[in-house]
Amino acid sequence: MALTRRAALFGAGAAVGVAGSRWMGAANPSLDGVAIVAPAGGETTLNDASLLSETPIFKHIIIKDPPGDALIATLRAELRAAEAEDRPVSIGAARHSMGGQAIPRDGHAITFDTPSILVEGETYRVQAGTRWHQVITALDPLGLSPKVMQSNADFGVASTFSVGAHGWPMPYGPMGSTVRSVQMLLADGTLVTASRSENADLFAAAMGGYGLIGLITELEVEAVPNQLLEPTFQTMPTADFAAAFTAIADGSTPMAYGRLNIDREGFFDDAMLVTYRPVAGDIPPASGSGFLSKASRAIFRAQPGNEWIKRRRWGIETGIGAMLAGASSRSSLMNEPVITLDDRDPTRTDILHEYFVAPDRFADFAAAAKAIIPGSYQELLNITLRYVAQDPTALLSYAPDGPRIASVLLFSQEMTARAEADMTRMTQELIEAVLAIGGSYYLPYRLHATPDQFRRCYGRSLDFLKVKLQVDPKLRLRNALWDTYLDKGFVY
Ligand SMILES: Cc1cc2nc3c(=O)[nH]c(=O)nc-3n(C[C@H](O)[C@H](O)[C@H](O)COP(=O)(O)OP(=O)(O)OC[C@H]3O[C@@H](n4cnc5c(N)ncnc54)[C@H](O)[C@@H]3O)c2cc1C
Repeated sequence: MALTRRAALFGAGAAVGVAGSRWMGAANPSLDGVAIVAPAGGETTLNDASLLSETPIFKHIIIKDPPGDALIATLRAELRAAEAEDRPVSIGAARHSMGGQAIPRDGHAITFDTPSILVEGETYRVQAGTRWHQVITALDPLGLSPKVMQSNADFGVASTFSVGAHGWPMPYGPMGSTVRSVQMLLADGTLVTASRSENADLFAAAMGGYGLIGLITELEVEAVPNQLLEPTFQTMPTADFAAAFTAIADGSTPMAYGRLNIDREGFFDDAMLVTYRPVAGDIPPASGSGFLSKASRAIFRAQPGNEWIKRRRWGIETGIGAMLAGASSRSSLMNEPVITLDDRDPTRTDILHEYFVAPDRFADFAAAAKAIIPGSYQELLNITLRYVAQDPTALLSYAPDGPRIASVLLFSQEMTARAEADMTRMTQELIEAVLAIGGSYYLPYRLHATPDQFRRCYGRSLDFLKVKLQVDPKLRLRNALWDTYLDKGFVY
């Protein structure tokens, strides 16, 4: 059995990790006397992957219609009903965004939950709510693979387009760069097709537009041939990472990512570049996570408050894990469910951050993060580095003027008010440091940036607002991202 990427890197040391965790013990702050934020749940609220976004809603409907007239009629009826009471509307799929980006306060929440995919050559038409694992299942027997998607397969395809998501296939920009056209319903019920040549202004606003421009019903997306890929692992000082990463962004390397060490003693000093290149051989059917991938959860979850485990994990990843890793299909590498490394601790939640900087500023980013993160109260579990090509299309682009190295940081956060306050402070400090080196931050996570930071990062947000006001003057399509940053945009 070929080991999956995560299995090889984490699973090899699971037993060592658990033993070490017990031996050394974790040093998390005491929770004695501290109130835990506990979501109430129920039908009148909606939450997201952060567990910290619980928001009252008016109603939540789950749509199972395939693409076609019935689906459009259902959405039009929902828009009319919302208009009658002047309530907001928002569509979501997996609601893995972390700040209510798919939640309309006191409004009509819609979830798309019907897979539908029609492959034509190397493109496919897909119903907006189709999840990536369903896309992989449809493409795999045809020898095809998604061109760009996130590193996990639970998310909806329209969501991916709507947040400008990217993954570790190289050397592409966000997934929207692989979308030929979208069909969407505007707030007044008009059905439009948008592409780079038709309604191009709507396409540019809807790509990375967080569902604020229209309700997307279908997308036409590009695929690529599936491949058998084998990894190589290189370790290096962090200062050398950006040059090594950009050197392989020449089309020769279909998938690659990087990591940095996270133990506080040597924080961010060492980097690892993992490069997947094609090899000859039969391509096995796309698989999910294997046993070792699940076993790897033990060492991953033993990290909070435990520097010994963090150091061991880096040693395992760059040592025995790298030695054990074998070939996998491109599609298998992306067919990873979020649940594999799930946190089962009700007192903690996982929070992602992501920052984008030009490759020649990556060392500055690492230095800023080293100065800011260890001084906080947050437990960094992982940092993954990705290459993202320039995205000149999306109005809310995070890479408008050149390629970026994306740093994806996964924190384990206590579910308390004190942790939330500390996370807000640290996030704003990190964003300020990233702004100072010409970079930007990613919008699907906690809404901790200040409105001023949002405007400085997203230089074309005023153009986005103009399109929004043209197509949705009554502001029917709203969510927490709108309420936090764009509603106040009228005083730009
Ligand atoms: C564990 C984890 C791993 C991740 N990995 C990556 C990664 O590798 N790369 C990356 O770029 N991001 C990554 N993300 C972020 C992720 O891409 C976003 O959170 C994405 O929104 C998740 O998809 P979803 O289906 O949960 O979206 P939702 O949260 O349901 O929706 C996201 C946005 O899309 C809009 N939307 C959804 N459907 C429609 C529609 N039909 N029409 C119009 N608007 C719509 C919603 O209104 C909302 O604003 C990750 C997140 C998590 C939790």
